Amino acid sequence: MEKVILIRFNEIHLKGGNKKYFLNLLYSNIKEAIKNVPCKLENIQNRLVLRDYDNSYEQDIIDALTAVFGVHSISIAVELNSDVDEVKNYVSTIKINKSFKCDVNRADKSFPIKSNDFAADLGEIVLKNNSMAHVDIHNPDITISVDIRENGKTFVFTDTIHSYSGLPLGEKADGLLLLSGGIDSPVAGFCMAKRGLRQDILHFDSFPYTSPQAKEKVITLAKKIKKFIGAKYMYICSMTKLQEEFHIHCNSEYAINLLRRSMIRVANYLCEKHNYKTIVTGESLGQVASQTIESLNSTNSVAKYIVLRPLISFNKEEIIEIAKKIGTYETSILPYEDCCTVFLPRNPIIKPRIKDSEREETKINLNNILASILDSIEVIELDNV
Ligand code: ATP
Ligand code: MG
Repeated sequence: MEKVILIRFNEIHLKGGNKKYFLNLLYSNIKEAIKNVPCKLENIQNRLVLRDYDNSYEQDIIDALTAVFGVHSISIAVELNSDVDEVKNYVSTIKINKSFKCDVNRADKSFPIKSNDFAADLGEIVLKNNSMAHVDIHNPDITISVDIRENGKTFVFTDTIHSYSGLPLGEKADGLLLLSGGIDSPVAGFCMAKRGLRQDILHFDSFPYTSPQAKEKVITLAKKIKKFIGAKYMYICSMTKLQEEFHIHCNSEYAINLLRRSMIRVANYLCEKHNYKTIVTGESLGQVASQTIESLNSTNSVAKYIVLRPLISFNKEEIIEIAKKIGTYETSILPYEDCCTVFLPRNPIIKPRIKDSEREETKINLNNILASILDSIEVIELDNV
């Protein structure tokens, strides 16, 4: 009898011929997430089993596992041989003074007793040993789960901790997340990572108009979402020179629109240079002037890669709910300025026409300024901060 952590996955089961590939990814992502914890990770059919860990690490392991996409749920379980008497003996030691039910899953069809019959047998044993216990099939306080696996082992547990499911992150970062200091973009990164998109991070500042504290805040956010999105690199790009030029020479109504288009151009450059295949933003339709369909068309028209906007249909409350769950909200609401709030026009254009955006851009030497901006992009290795 050994205490282990039983790890379940769901969507990977549907992957047919690619199941092995996704399972290998999940395995190595879990290994990476728990790399500081001495333990063994074993791949049994349709489950992963983590064993040989010190109890003092248990909460750390749970926290790490529940941040790994592809993990459906985990349970701290007792591992037994799939032997009727051994399982019965163990169940007879369980102490219960509330309502309960027994739930048997017989993946090993050679186990001699059918699931429902074995659940009834085990239920009787619990009742016999616990005078305060009573059965409630529909709404039990405690469910004793008995998972009889194909490898001759049976796992018994009473708690299941649900994770985020989804697909395991790919080996390489295919996405570039545009991360501001706000509430939305960390959530956008989380949502895309849930579908297996590993992302590095691009942040724009406007130093000295934005403060070093504003930059530190975004680095803190990056560190917080790193465990979800698998980021290794964070690029910081200064938009100061460009924003000054727009401010001096261009129609102020277009300031944000032009800034957004240039953000995408910088992202294009990094995608090309580092082989990212998509740009991710936290835009949500109609949230502000720069997120109307016309504004999104104007920014899209300079994008050379697909721009993924997972929050496009989300209400702010829905975004906030996720931000709180993933632990970014408290940092996001710290009151520091963002480059988008510098030189903010009184009346930003709500329905920009692409040809008007292009006309405004001819008023400055865009290519030269962009070239100098790209030249001074700072790269931070997130493992080292
Ligand atoms: P919030 O709306 O909660 O203030 P936000 O991050 O959504 O935060 P917006 O002004 O709505 O900020 O910007 C829309 C999107 O554009 C962001 O989600 C982000 O992807 C990108 N973006 C905005 N500002 C920056 C920035 N300074 N650096 C990188 N990306 C940015
Ligand atoms: Mg927003």
